Amino acid sequence: MFTNPDYDNHEHVVFHRDPETGLTAIIALHSTVLGPAFGGCRMYPYDDEDQALTDALRLSRGMTYKAAICGLPYGGGKSVIIGDSKSDKTPSLLRAMGRLVEALGGRYIIADDVGTSLDDLAVMRQETSHTAAATAAAQEPLAVTAHGVLMAIEAAVVAQLQRTDFAGLTVAVQGLGSVGMPLCQALQTRGAALIVTDMDAKKMAAASQDYGATAVAPDDIYDQAVDLFAPCALGAVLNDQTIPRLKARIVCGGANNQLLESRHDQALAGRGITYVPDYLANAGGVIDFYQEFIDDSPTAILASVERIRGITESVLASAEASGKTALEVADAMVRERLKEAAS
Ligand code: NAD
Repeated sequence: MFTNPDYDNHEHVVFHRDPETGLTAIIALHSTVLGPAFGGCRMYPYDDEDQALTDALRLSRGMTYKAAICGLPYGGGKSVIIGDSKSDKTPSLLRAMGRLVEALGGRYIIADDVGTSLDDLAVMRQETSHTAAATAAAQEPLAVTAHGVLMAIEAAVVAQLQRTDFAGLTVAVQGLGSVGMPLCQALQTRGAALIVTDMDAKKMAAASQDYGATAVAPDDIYDQAVDLFAPCALGAVLNDQTIPRLKARIVCGGANNQLLESRHDQALAGRGITYVPDYLANAGGVIDFYQEFIDDSPTAILASVERIRGITESVLASAEASGKTALEVADAMVRERLKEAAS
């Protein structure tokens, strides 16, 4: 693990197997300097353990950055269960996962992610109280991540395009899932024209019908003449092959780990493209978790998520003033907060 390129002095990484229930899981706690490590549980049929570990290491680091840039009292964690969520997920496996979380004594708060749901967290709660979605608000999930991405987009459009409205703006949305689809709705409501893609033709048809979006094949999304590109599907979509093709002036979306490598931030800057750090744009979920303990009404939760706009504004303003990229500025802010809290 220590030689894994994504190992970033993570505080604690747990490898666990429970033969009775078939649970094979890794929990990575990147940092608990600012508070308990918060992060989702991904269940996925990884090809091998290395792939699962890399995911846990990368995603837990991202969670530290999300919480820290938003000034929240949490650290970053992530868990992965190696298995197929459609065939291998059983109540006994989920309870075993709950016991593993409980054994960490509150240093890790588990949330839902790809392959796990709020219902799964309810099963885990039979064994541990250290889960997200334990409040009444969780019964009615809000599109908090999409709302946060929208806030970041609003800030970036003002900073980069000097525009306060979306009329006449064209946005390319990659991925029409629980983040991309509500984002399309919000953008269309504000007057933006949409170009969308997904692997699922039905979702593309729905976006065309409901939001007047123009659908294109998945690989064609990078070539569109748009103002803004919003990756809301996969990670690593900003790379040597795709960046030269982009015509957008802003990249801001909900996907985690959008840059294949950190040097691709510079590659975007070199083309005059403003890249809003993914961990800032998609921090709506962790803000929601925090807010639910204070006031869990939908209005209060969405208002709390709106802090993403102000943070994005200040990051972009510092970037402009210093000649650095937004990612460099945001990373430095996070490192400073962690250093201060640790001292
Ligand atoms: P989802 O599974 O609901 O939707 C993803 C969509 O992307 C699916 O419709 C899928 O068909 C599509 N897709 C997959 N590969 C594609 C490709 N090559 N081209 C185009 N479309 C493709 O997932 P989600 O919850 O909407 O999350 C999307 C991204 O945002 C992920 O990277 C996730 O890690 C990140 N994220 C999600 C949340 C959240 O609250 N759901 C929070 C933070 C970050």
